[in-house]
Amino acid sequence: MFIGIFIGAITFTGSIIAWGKLDGKVPSKPWSFKGLQTMNLVLLVACTILGVLYCKADGTSGMLYLGIMTAIASFIGVVLVMAIGGGDMPVVVSMLNSYSGWAAAAAGFMLGNDLLIVTGALVGSSGAILSMHMCHAMNRSFFSVIFASGSGNGSGGEKKAIEGEVTALNHEEVAGLLKEARSVVIVPGYGMAVAKAQYPIYDMVQFLRKAGKNVRFAIHPVAGRLPGHMNVLLAEANVPYDIVMEMDEINDDMPDTDVVMVIGANDVVNPSAQDDPASSIYGMPVIEAWKAEKVIIMKRSMSAGYSGEDNPLFYKPNSEMLYGDAKDSVEKIMGFLKA
Ligand code: NDP
Repeated sequence: MFIGIFIGAITFTGSIIAWGKLDGKVPSKPWSFKGLQTMNLVLLVACTILGVLYCKADGTSGMLYLGIMTAIASFIGVVLVMAIGGGDMPVVVSMLNSYSGWAAAAAGFMLGNDLLIVTGALVGSSGAILSMHMCHAMNRSFFSVIFASGSGNGSGGEKKAIEGEVTALNHEEVAGLLKEARSVVIVPGYGMAVAKAQYPIYDMVQFLRKAGKNVRFAIHPVAGRLPGHMNVLLAEANVPYDIVMEMDEINDDMPDTDVVMVIGANDVVNPSAQDDPASSIYGMPVIEAWKAEKVIIMKRSMSAGYSGEDNPLFYKPNSEMLYGDAKDSVEKIMGFLKA
């Protein structure tokens, strides 16, 4: 009971903070202070002592120890997630999933329910494995993310100045570029999910493929706001798996690509992850869209992505912005393609 409530309380308050960060209600920047790790360690030791006292105590004092531990664990959940920066949130989401599984498994032991133990352990271990994969994809250390020690890879120094000018084109011009192109790569991101643009995008892909063009999707492991978010949305629109490529599979093809359409994505195509040590996403592998002949970035404004970092891709000489809601823009492009 004690272990189940301990993990459950951390998961509950941690999840509320994670929700706030994903919903923009809590700042996505890491909130930390000197001595945070020591404080967490002291609180952990205090909970262990309370656990020992709880096991030895009678009914009334046992409830008191349980109550104190619940308050401490709830506080740990808040500070653990507050200390994690925007770019590392994918790992937090999958770790909280994992914790919820371990809490359920502990409850299974308390109730003597084998099914709950097994399903809880499955959720817990699969969440932990997914978190390790996410860390690998983001080039982060698993332990530094979950214990919030040095979250993010940026040195925190002065950021590189962005050079170049932003240019924009219209829907008709994009349709013209697509008619000329032989190979097209689509990089979807969170904005595609917001706009629910996956259905018209797949209509456009089918149209272009019928016209003999090589059209594929490039999926970054942390695109969107959930692990596997883009894969789920594309599967929902019946996009066949063989044209949905992982970042590692498609990056080498970028120099031979005529047009890259970045649809509602931002951080996952940000070149500062490779060349600006001061950036908070420095070290995270990204889709190298800028290596293509032409890059079209479809979003509503020049605003930054989830990490809050500006994106030098928008200023590259081969990049053009297409402003507007992703679904609306794709439908307009489709109109010009069919004309
Ligand atoms: P980003 O959050 O970096 O960028 C999304 C872009 O979509 C925004 O810049 C926004 O620009 C644009 N957008 C929003 N609404 C629309 C719309 N209706 N039409 C067109 N564009 C729109 O998304 P990415 O997918 O590139 O990156 C994911 C980020 O989220 C990463 O930083 C990742 O670490 C983080 N994250 C991922 C999680 C996961 O598990 N996958 C979990 C938690 C965080 P504008 O407002 O100008 O339109």
